[in-house]
Amino acid sequence: MPDLAEFGNSLDGELFSPDSPGYEAIRRPVNLAYREVRPRLVVACRSVCDVVGAMTYATAIGDRIVPRGGGHCFAGRSSTDGIVLDLSGLDAICVAADRVATIGAGVRLGQVYAALHASGRTLPAGCGPTVGITGLTLGGGIGLLGRKHGLTCDRLVGAQVVLPDGSVVNCDRDHEPDLFWALRGAGGGQFGVVTSLRFDTVPEPMTTRIEAHWPDIALEELVSAWQAWAPDAPDELTVNLTIESEPGVPVQATLFGAATAEEGSTRELLQEFIDRAGVTSSIELRTGLPYHRLKSTFAGPRDEPGRALRIRSEFFSHSMAHCTLASLLTQLGEPRSIGRRQLGFTAMGGAYNRVTENATAFAHRSERFLLEHIADGADPWVDRSWATAHADGSGRVYPNFPDPALDDWAAAYHAGNYPRLAAVKNAYDPHRFFDFPQAI
Ligand SMILES: Cc1cc2nc3c(=O)[nH]c(=O)nc-3n(C[C@H](O)[C@H](O)[C@H](O)COP(=O)(O)OP(=O)(O)OC[C@H]3O[C@@H](n4cnc5c(N)ncnc54)[C@H](O)[C@@H]3O)c2cc1C
Repeated sequence: MPDLAEFGNSLDGELFSPDSPGYEAIRRPVNLAYREVRPRLVVACRSVCDVVGAMTYATAIGDRIVPRGGGHCFAGRSSTDGIVLDLSGLDAICVAADRVATIGAGVRLGQVYAALHASGRTLPAGCGPTVGITGLTLGGGIGLLGRKHGLTCDRLVGAQVVLPDGSVVNCDRDHEPDLFWALRGAGGGQFGVVTSLRFDTVPEPMTTRIEAHWPDIALEELVSAWQAWAPDAPDELTVNLTIESEPGVPVQATLFGAATAEEGSTRELLQEFIDRAGVTSSIELRTGLPYHRLKSTFAGPRDEPGRALRIRSEFFSHSMAHCTLASLLTQLGEPRSIGRRQLGFTAMGGAYNRVTENATAFAHRSERFLLEHIADGADPWVDRSWATAHADGSGRVYPNFPDPALDDWAAAYHAGNYPRLAAVKNAYDPHRFFDFPQAI
């Protein structure tokens, strides 16, 4: 049995056990629902050697190990009573002359946008500033530039990975191509521990911020118009929609998004939507914002510290039928005493769908929009609302929004890519060193 003190002394980073000062702070994931899971050890890694050492130690003592980046996983997969590998110390970001950015596995999105901005570059990626770049990329990565530049994982050109046997591999299109394929969209924690990612960055655009709040609006007309319009809008425009109900407050619709088009054509395009939806009040535009500034001005429905949320979601490859939509909106507004409920509609289409289904592990390339049902953990509305919408859904679910309640999760997350993913799992992690409910 290897000696714990010896293992601790070998680290560039730090080892935390339940009696160490600082353990309580470092052990907790961001997601409140998993705050009470107490790991036996937390290894705060500062180097690739630390990751290798921790995996070797875990193998020797036969304990479970899970990597943690931003700690946001909705299904608690970066929490364990075994060993948590905290990667936040792997936080280097550098942009080379060829505009390829090498990003440490523990970096959060806010740090990515700020560092790339200094080089006039950016990535199409998500909104939450504390979300980890690695967790986001491994499951896909949907964001406000995605309809123009694709998923975050579509910009990935290479990754360094520590495999379960402790070996370190660099994968890209020409080296370990199956592993590289699988890392682009299968979801985190499946094959090995990623220590750094290499991305082909894009020029940071100037953007127009789009926002409107409409209480007391004809919701069915609004959502119908959005479904028919937002997924087909030009790539330069991404407009998402949230419908929200709270006890004692009228149901409210919020439209938010970003445009990289000229202000005049942005206004024209939005006018098309306003006319279709029959909306009378205006949409607020703020022009001339570099993309990283625009990102920092949005707090999405999932960005609520202190609230234990439950989220279920599904993709839609066609608009919902009127009767489905009517039932969904009725259920959202049903009276109750506590809790906010949100339906979040995210526009897909554009560059997301110009990649074939089997080109990367992310299989959902013909979808028009993603619908999330978000509420407090105890609100049974989430399941009712999801079941209502599911009648018209495509049966596919975003791997970064894992849903423990799914029946056929393999088909929902991975569709036709599942057999190849299972073969990659078998080749790189034959003894299931990385395992969790719904793991490949
Ligand atoms: C507030 C908020 C906003 C969000 N906004 C968006 C958005 O705009 N767009 C979008 O697409 N998604 C969004 N998401 C979903 C997000 O993409 C996922 O929750 C993602 O898995 C979070 O990654 P993480 O590193 O923060 O979480 P973690 O819990 O640390 O990791 C998630 C999974 O990846 C694994 N993992 C982490 N690091 C590594 C590694 N180095 N190697 C191998 N596996 C690893 C973990 O073990 C776990 O299974 C949001 C989530 C939240 C909570």
